[in-house]
Amino acid sequence: MVTLLSTLTDTNRKPLSPCKPGMARSLLKAGKAAVFLRYPFTIVLKKAVETNHEPLELKLDPGSKVTGVAIKQDNKIIFGAELQHRGQQIKDALLSRRQLRRGRRNRKTRYRKARFLNRTRPDGWLAPSGQHRVETILTWVRKLIRLAPVASIVQELVRFDSQLMQNPEISGVMYQHGELQGYEVRQYLLEKWHRQCAYCSAENVPFEVEHIQPKSRGGSDRVSNLTLACHDCNQKKGNQDVRAFLAAKPDLLNRILKQAKLPLKDAAAVNSTRWALFNALKETGLPVTTGTGGQTKFNRHRLGLAKSHWLDAACVGSVDTLKVLTSKPLLIVAKGQGTRQMCGTNPYGFPIRHKSRVQIHKGFQTGDIVSATVTAGKKVGSYTGRLLCRASGSFDIVTKAGRVTGISHKYCKAIHKKDGYSYGF
Ligand SMILES: [Zn+2]
Repeated sequence: MVTLLSTLTDTNRKPLSPCKPGMARSLLKAGKAAVFLRYPFTIVLKKAVETNHEPLELKLDPGSKVTGVAIKQDNKIIFGAELQHRGQQIKDALLSRRQLRRGRRNRKTRYRKARFLNRTRPDGWLAPSGQHRVETILTWVRKLIRLAPVASIVQELVRFDSQLMQNPEISGVMYQHGELQGYEVRQYLLEKWHRQCAYCSAENVPFEVEHIQPKSRGGSDRVSNLTLACHDCNQKKGNQDVRAFLAAKPDLLNRILKQAKLPLKDAAAVNSTRWALFNALKETGLPVTTGTGGQTKFNRHRLGLAKSHWLDAACVGSVDTLKVLTSKPLLIVAKGQGTRQMCGTNPYGFPIRHKSRVQIHKGFQTGDIVSATVTAGKKVGSYTGRLLCRASGSFDIVTKAGRVTGISHKYCKAIHKKDGYSYGF
């Protein structure tokens, strides 16, 4: 398993070219380096060295739940990570707070006329879950820039290339499978037909690109004659005329024919969070280039790589050949920085418990990654994971296998201090 190993000089903490795990092991063994960070694994050299390092490329595939991260050196992928966001938790927490406050406010008050639509949002406002996504990605970009000599950033920005698809509905864009343009057309169709089978509205099934008017009956390859269908519908339709196939469903037929002629508005494919991220990345001062979703998929298929977020990130942008040296990505889960709420409430909004202001107990705090070697009692064994801290000194450790309760602080040793994330492989 190759993970990022960034060597840093101790004098000025200048990032050096990442090295292989074997190299790091021998440096640590010889006492020439020390562990600087556990996640991502980083060592620091004990003396300053002068080297000229190869510039690295940081590649990002931002997703709504998970963002893929890859670092490329020449044509080698030397680091991969998957960053899991907590957008849904943020949304849920804000919703429950809102409902609770609303209930409390309205419980014993006279009727007041609703006042709504009296707030304005600043330009470029993002939903809290989207803002969180931009900020966590940026945090990790900054962190990786500090640890490794990153010289440029590549980000997947849009689903398909609108330039390649200029007037796709009228200028006969040829749909050919296995070509870059084919992938872009597919992404365009997914967006246009709302990721549903046009005939039976099935979702989350593999789609086939379908000629509305079959080619054998004079239908063209233009995008305005293409739609998406599930395998069953495609087989059932065969080379029938669409009017004959949908003779029993005139409403559906009309809708399909109408939608086929309607070009997809640009705004429909614009993802505001991705654009906000793009603008934020530009402020790092590094050159930022972008790729499209169609291009990513095309590269991934061409290189025969499995579908995963970090490999998608590796395929973002224009890629010739790739040698993947990493076997497993670092799995990073955003956990937040805890809550500032000092008073817990029951479902009706009444206070039921109060929290102490003190967060650090026995030198530990919730969110630390610890390793514990228990030598006595019922819980004998070694555990590594995220800590849940209690004032009593009896901690819980969330390991890969599950949660272990009641571990005394005496056995714990922090290997990575709380930074708002949990890690795994
Ligand atoms: Zn179908």
